[in-house]
Amino acid sequence: MADCCIIGGGVIGLSLARELAGRGAAVEVVCRDPVERTASWAAAGIFPPVADGPAATALERFTAFSDRLHWQWADELRAETGIDNGLRRCGGLHVAGTRAGRERLAAARTRWLAARVRCIDCDGAAVAVAEPALAGAVARGTVSAGVILPDEAQIRPSRHLDALLASCRARGVRITTATVQGLELDGRRVGGVRTDGGTVRAERYCLAAGSWSEGLAAALGLALSTRPIRGQIVLVRLPRQLLSRIVSFGLDYLVPRPDGRLLVGATIEDVGFDDRTTAAGEDGLIDVARRLLGDVDGAVVERSWSGLRPGNRDGRPTLGPVPGWENVWVTTGHFRAGMHLSTGSAVAVADMLDGAVPAPWLDAFAPWRAMESDDESVDAYLARVETAAVSPP
Ligand SMILES: Cc1cc2nc3c(=O)[nH]c(=O)nc-3n(C[C@H](O)[C@H](O)[C@H](O)COP(=O)(O)OP(=O)(O)OC[C@H]3O[C@@H](n4cnc5c(N)ncnc54)[C@H](O)[C@@H]3O)c2cc1C
Repeated sequence: MADCCIIGGGVIGLSLARELAGRGAAVEVVCRDPVERTASWAAAGIFPPVADGPAATALERFTAFSDRLHWQWADELRAETGIDNGLRRCGGLHVAGTRAGRERLAAARTRWLAARVRCIDCDGAAVAVAEPALAGAVARGTVSAGVILPDEAQIRPSRHLDALLASCRARGVRITTATVQGLELDGRRVGGVRTDGGTVRAERYCLAAGSWSEGLAAALGLALSTRPIRGQIVLVRLPRQLLSRIVSFGLDYLVPRPDGRLLVGATIEDVGFDDRTTAAGEDGLIDVARRLLGDVDGAVVERSWSGLRPGNRDGRPTLGPVPGWENVWVTTGHFRAGMHLSTGSAVAVADMLDGAVPAPWLDAFAPWRAMESDDESVDAYLARVETAAVSPP
């Protein structure tokens, strides 16, 4: 019998499995889908620069903690598995053209400066110098201002997941493909996980099932409010790479991969558990690329995909013990930042499982907190998508 059974084999479940196994625990991961079908695989892999000053919010502190761990994990994963997960500080350029867009960019700049994130202001001409492929967009008036964030980074989610899987296997983690159908309850403890392939038993259990965590947690009387928010992405093959940095344009972005491909993302859609791509989603993303780069000779849409981001109402993840139960923990609701927050979540939850007293700022993510809507909430993002669609020039 395993020391810990983790339900979910996305980046959150696999990172926790790796961390626990590295501390000597016998771990079993139960996951329904191949890794290519997870939200984690679908992610763009953008790591925004992080703030960690005295005024940082709990989420900023947690992001900074995770970010530091990622650089360490990237080296360890390369040494353990030979896989380079592509983590690199490529820098970002956030651009705007409409009045509303410039106002949003100015507000973001104020937040970045307050958080001591390095920013370089650009007018249109400076944008075109920094990224010559945007010169046409500047000439057309689509882009008139920008801010360079030299510390923005990217990771290749598919490679990171391959590296996590290889590391987990090398550390003795058992990975079982099965669908969890229910939990066996025994007093104040979970006694087993019922799957379509039989019952899995362990000393302790952790729910890390992304958008599907809410249903499992409900069986334990925990209301999570993790709702699926679909994101679609289009991958374009270019004759040669045109960008050196990640370019963000409102909520949309272009991520240049070193192999010449360009990832265009991402939709933010509240459509339940429908994880299909749509012609409208793909066309909208291609239009974003066209507005920024013009028509590029030889550019080919190679493929598109989508994933369901697990969004809590307040946009913050949920980490901690499930109230009222002696042997169950939860780690989910990472919304738009699960790739970035995965290492910190793994270490924080593994510490809790080891009985360590959590840092006080982790209370902000406690399963029993009251979830209030603020600027980072799922509803705020959905509202921003609406506003962006109707903003005047
Ligand atoms: C388009 C898009 C772009 C994104 N871009 C970024 C980005 O740039 N940076 C960033 O940090 N984050 C990004 N994210 C967010 C990030 O991908 C998610 O927050 C993260 O992947 C969530 O990971 P997870 O492991 O919780 O969920 P998932 O990856 O969805 O994994 C859930 C796991 O639970 C399993 N499961 C579910 N139900 C059951 C069941 N009943 N039985 C057994 N197993 C079950 C599934 O099979 C799967 O293995 C993006 C997401 C999307 C969709």
